[in-house]
Amino acid sequence: MVNSEFSILFWGVRGSTPSISKDTIEFGGNTPCIQINAGKHLLIIDAGTGLCQLGKKLMEQKENISAHIFISHTHWDHVQGIPFFLPFYEKENQFKIYGEIKNNIPFSQVIKSLMKPPYFPVTWDTIKADCSFYEISQGDVIFLDNDLVVKTLRLNHPDDALGFRIEFQGKSCCYISDIEHKEIADPQILQFIENTDVLIYDASFTEEEYIHKKGWGHSTWEKGIELTQQASAKKLILFHHDTYRYDEELASIETQAQKIYPNTFAAKEGMELHL
Ligand SMILES: [Zn+2]
Ligand SMILES: [Zn+2]
Repeated sequence: MVNSEFSILFWGVRGSTPSISKDTIEFGGNTPCIQINAGKHLLIIDAGTGLCQLGKKLMEQKENISAHIFISHTHWDHVQGIPFFLPFYEKENQFKIYGEIKNNIPFSQVIKSLMKPPYFPVTWDTIKADCSFYEISQGDVIFLDNDLVVKTLRLNHPDDALGFRIEFQGKSCCYISDIEHKEIADPQILQFIENTDVLIYDASFTEEEYIHKKGWGHSTWEKGIELTQQASAKKLILFHHDTYRYDEELASIETQAQKIYPNTFAAKEGMELHL
């Protein structure tokens, strides 16, 4: 039987740094990490602190875990979960890890150097899983299977970031986190996200806040709606919530956004979408 499951599960939705308090508990305080199941394949997009709980869950669910891990960029909030990902410490597990060269440093080295004293007590050598690293860059088209493709796009962000479009059996989702928009919608982004079923978009700021945050490398929920409408994307997920965006305000932003584009939701830890 053909497994046509295509689902997205959110483990971390917060930007910049974990934000754990009674005021963030509803939407969640962990930094970016998304699980995508596409048929028999497991994809993990970004390895923020959300990766820790995902790791625990995978260990409980199955043996011989194998996954493709895509890293949009290596700012702390997108890699901080790596040393705490339990499946890395079991030798029967297998991971393919994809990301960019940074400052002429090979991607594997950028990741491995996250783990060393005095910042972390053990080095990458303690990891027992079979991990292989793949250097990717903008414009790549990566075939993970006949019917599963990941495409990449350069995003305007300090130190650069990649956006991803995951296509599986005629459906797609796009991950456009950590991007500062241009005043007029970027045609390359519009083309990249065209007709996608789910657009996950950097909604760190409101338009009002953005006036004071130019050059910080992030976007607004209002720009997310503009892009969604112009590119005929179907569903918009507001993502990478600001550290100090509390539950009440996020719920209010979601309501405001839904008045303009009803199929908009603020990403929440534990939220699951089926395409
Ligand atoms: Zn970020
Ligand atoms: Zn960043």
